[in-house]
Amino acid sequence: MSERPSLKAKLGVNVFKPDKARHINIRPGFEKDPRLKAAVVVCPAGLYSVNDRGEVELDIDGCLECGTCRIACGPEVLDWNYPNGEAGVQFRFG
Ligand code: SF4
Repeated sequence: MSERPSLKAKLGVNVFKPDKARHINIRPGFEKDPRLKAAVVVCPAGLYSVNDRGEVELDIDGCLECGTCRIACGPEVLDWNYPNGEAGVQFRFG
């Protein structure tokens, strides 16, 4: 029986061109907001993490544009927009 590929391996076949300026930003001053912690749990690509200071950080490279973090955290803490033009995710299915 063959082994299933890991999530990281599956996501690795996609192509990402991050639009860091526009796509998703944590609103300034909300890095420790409890609502933001939901994103650490729900993001399917695992792009949110909590640093040593208890602040939530986002590494946008690899975003699937699913919108889950937008729904989980709300627009008050996240500035969420689709990427501009040629940027964003290109899904590849192998
Ligand atoms: Fe993660 Fe989806 Fe939010 Fe992108 S849109 S950061 S993949 S939850």
